[in-house]
Amino acid sequence: MPKHIWNKDLQSTQIDKDSYEYRSKYTCFNCRSTYLKILPKKTEEITCTNCDQKAIDMGYLFQAPPKRNKRLWKKMENLRQKGFKFDRTGNVVRAKSFLKNHYPSNLK
Ligand SMILES: [Zn+2]
Repeated sequence: MPKHIWNKDLQSTQIDKDSYEYRSKYTCFNCRSTYLKILPKKTEEITCTNCDQKAIDMGYLFQAPPKRNKRLWKKMENLRQKGFKFDRTGNVVRAKSFLKNHYPSNLK
């Protein structure tokens, strides 16, 4: 929960900007699992609780593909390596159109 601080006149509060937690989905490409994490500060990667490899910040709008769909997971890994992140709606649209242009088949 973000912290509220009183204004000088003590009539209203405002949100302390430094107290926001960072909420995002972290994905481990080694075991293909995704975690929703709420962290005190923005972190690029955490350690996967499953396999101790690194789990990468994908953005909170990331929708993990089914575990068996290895090709789609590979595409997601490629996207992330190219710098795509699912943290804003606009970025999700950009990532999807990139996939459509570069892998036209079998993608909906
Ligand atoms: Zn893992």
